[in-house]
Amino acid sequence: ITEAEQAVLDEIEEKDVDFLRLQFTDILGTVKNVSVPARQAEKAFSEGIYFDGSSIEGFVRIQESDMRLVPDPDTFAILPWRQKEDSAAARMICDVYNTSTGEPFEGDPRRVLKNALERAEDLGYDVNAAPEPEFFLFEEDEEGRATTKTNDAGGYFDLAPKDLASDVRRDIIYGLEDMGFEIEASHHEVAEGQHEINFEYDDALATADNVATFRTVVRAIAAQHDLHATFMPKPIPKINGSGMHTHFSLFEDGENAFHDEDDEFNLSDEAHSFLAGILEHAPAITAVANPTVNSYKRLVPGYEAPVYVAWSDRNRSALVRKPAARTPAASRIELRSPDPSCNPYLAFAVMIHAGLDGIEQDLECPDPVRENIYEFDEQKRDEYGIDTLPSNLGKAVDALEDDEAIYSALGEHVAPKFVEAKRQEFEEYLVDVSEWELDRYLETF
Ligand code: GLN
Ligand code: MG
Ligand code: MG
Ligand code: MG
Repeated sequence: ITEAEQAVLDEIEEKDVDFLRLQFTDILGTVKNVSVPARQAEKAFSEGIYFDGSSIEGFVRIQESDMRLVPDPDTFAILPWRQKEDSAAARMICDVYNTSTGEPFEGDPRRVLKNALERAEDLGYDVNAAPEPEFFLFEEDEEGRATTKTNDAGGYFDLAPKDLASDVRRDIIYGLEDMGFEIEASHHEVAEGQHEINFEYDDALATADNVATFRTVVRAIAAQHDLHATFMPKPIPKINGSGMHTHFSLFEDGENAFHDEDDEFNLSDEAHSFLAGILEHAPAITAVANPTVNSYKRLVPGYEAPVYVAWSDRNRSALVRKPAARTPAASRIELRSPDPSCNPYLAFAVMIHAGLDGIEQDLECPDPVRENIYEFDEQKRDEYGIDTLPSNLGKAVDALEDDEAIYSALGEHVAPKFVEAKRQEFEEYLVDVSEWELDRYLETF
């Protein structure tokens, strides 16, 4: 038993933890839990906990369904909304192993991200990431089902009393801090009922774990206030949707390899090549970073979400932005396309592979675009060489299949399963008849 594992066992004792939730995610990013009595913690560390993987989306075929969960002691956290006087529940995030081979299971999204981080490490880099997840808080109806009615009428950075949701947000932040999050900032977003909470950057694996945890915590605490928190990218038409801007930097021997004092943008050659890799692979990344039919209702002009493949050090209509940095350590790039419906492990993995591909191939970074690209017409975009992101999930999946570097970044197990699931989702959508169609045509024809 390692030191970190012993520390967890001690804390279980000390805080009267009686149940342990062993957490992992499926390919679609849904958090799954296996709950075990806390006295099994030691066994979980030494032998792992066996479960039937055939019931988990995209994991395995029925005939090879035994999987083993091995908890990562660094991810131990008490669940604040389950804490009572003399008992508590805690969770740990797990790696998934194949019982027959004893090897890490390639269908585990956390493994897919670790593969990306190992590629970075081989090049001498540690990857840092920081997300800015946005979400809506909606009222529940009498039966406790989610509505799309907001419980406040705030706007960007508005303060109470307009921002009635601020006490919910405060509880959410306390809950997150109890679970070890370092909250950088939180504010009311542009749209009614919309919020954003930013957390401190960390290595990309810890950050992906944090995103998975974040969604669970936000939903659980909102529910205590009889509110439904949703990370659906565009719940209400014609107002801003919810994004999850993600900031990246590479560190080499503890120094920020993205920083260069002498560069016009304070970005190093590596940073420029990484950025070029992201732009090059942007269409394929979209399938993973924007994986729902609804994601593409957000990626339209006019709502601060990216549509065009370009970068900028100024405006927010570009796909990638270079935020102002106060210190060398803070030099980074911000990818603005991801939305919070993505599987953070897979999304980070493809973005990192894209960037590293740019570095390995020494890709040339185009000039930044400082004008508002929403206002460009097609001719002007052509002139500037600006591509457009895929306009729906079907096209995004096509782009993913056409991009060998990104497709293979998902690994042999996840890539085909992901494509199959998303094709099916898109085809179901195509044959559906929407409210909009009924409103428009039912009485006209
Ligand atoms: N909600 C916007 C989006 O969809 C972002 C708004 C902002 O953070 N400035 O990405
Ligand atoms: Mg922000
Ligand atoms: Mg925002
Ligand atoms: Mg941002």
